[in-house]
Amino acid sequence: MAFPYLEAVIGFKILMYFFETYLEVRQLRANKLTTLPKTLEGVISEDTFQKTRSYSLDHSRFHFVCQFVTIVRDSAILFFGVMPWFWKKSEDFMTLIGLNADNEILHSIAFLAGCMILLQITKLPLSLYFLFVLEAHHDCNKSTPAYTAGVFFVNMIKGIIVAALVGPPIVTAIIYLVPKGGPYLAIYVWALGNVFIIYEQLIAPLFKKITPVSIFVLLIILKLICLKVNSEKIEELAASLKFPARKLFVVDGSKWSNKHSNVQMTGLLHNTGILLNDKIVQQDKNDEEVLAVIAHELGHWKLNHFVPLYVAMQFVPLLNGGGFTLARNSTDLFQSFGFHSQPVIIGLIIYLLIAAPLNYIVMFGRNHLFRSIEFQADAFAVKLGYKSALRSVLVKKQMENLMEFNADPWYYAYRVIQPPAVLRLTAMDELDKKAD
Ligand SMILES: [Zn+2]
Repeated sequence: MAFPYLEAVIGFKILMYFFETYLEVRQLRANKLTTLPKTLEGVISEDTFQKTRSYSLDHSRFHFVCQFVTIVRDSAILFFGVMPWFWKKSEDFMTLIGLNADNEILHSIAFLAGCMILLQITKLPLSLYFLFVLEAHHDCNKSTPAYTAGVFFVNMIKGIIVAALVGPPIVTAIIYLVPKGGPYLAIYVWALGNVFIIYEQLIAPLFKKITPVSIFVLLIILKLICLKVNSEKIEELAASLKFPARKLFVVDGSKWSNKHSNVQMTGLLHNTGILLNDKIVQQDKNDEEVLAVIAHELGHWKLNHFVPLYVAMQFVPLLNGGGFTLARNSTDLFQSFGFHSQPVIIGLIIYLLIAAPLNYIVMFGRNHLFRSIEFQADAFAVKLGYKSALRSVLVKKQMENLMEFNADPWYYAYRVIQPPAVLRLTAMDELDKKAD
């Protein structure tokens, strides 16, 4: 008897749902605490704390509803064979409009477009509730700009247009290239992954309008924009760590996505550099605080953090490329999901479903790695004497993002790649305890 892949996938999804819900309950419990964590006592006002607390609580509760709707929807789609049914329907649709349904590329594009439209429709009620009821109720959230129904629908249409332009060429390339790759697919995917890494690290920064500058030029720029940075101190700091000055870049902040911090590492292996966002000056950071942020980034550089990240990144494409090759050739697998042919795109979707346990492990490992290097870089800055400055940077960051002040470490270890400021602050306090 063939292995019950479909049932295993549904079972695993439900298992993960309970596990994740347990973590959400832990975070909800943390949100319900009426006192600030020790590290923020006396730093955050009672009013800010209460506002954030009620915002976080509403968010948590809303998340429970979303997770429940998602698990019911996804399990039903799999259990009732909606995927093969929809694949057949898109074939009928192709014939109806006079296109050749035997063309796998066209058929796949029609199928994916249909899926996307259905997904948008099912997501709509919850998205609308989130933006216009929940977010609107908490006017204290300054990080999201005021949203109107018009803006919302314009953005949605923009998203659909982009998907319609970008999707078909990608689908065509995948369907065309996968059979050509044959048994070497994993190697090709791995090579492509490395091209992306090189692009991200070496080429993309060039498009961020980088001006390579020496420490001196950087200081002149910073001075021109009236940031009273203590120049001697930056020089001292960089020189004491033997940081190659030519590898410090100032970047046009308007090209900088919000996801990144103000300072970012770039480059490969020994060619590592640091990008400094010129927006850093618009924020009210004093010179010690700017130095503390730079010290943290210099910590990443000094501790060679790019090496473990680069090595870790090599495994993911090899693993997935190999796994997908195996999955694509398994007739049992396709049949288990109700398919009697083996189209490339369906193979990819099924692979992503069965590889979920593997990807959870990879995600957890990656988060763990990112978290530990953040803590190490903080410890490095603390060792250099920037503890109080780094503390105040992190407190400001916590205020800006309106994040939960009481963070459950388990929840965050699983959920996010960057540890929240409050956990970094707590880790810094623990460094002191160890030193005593
Ligand atoms: Zn960092």
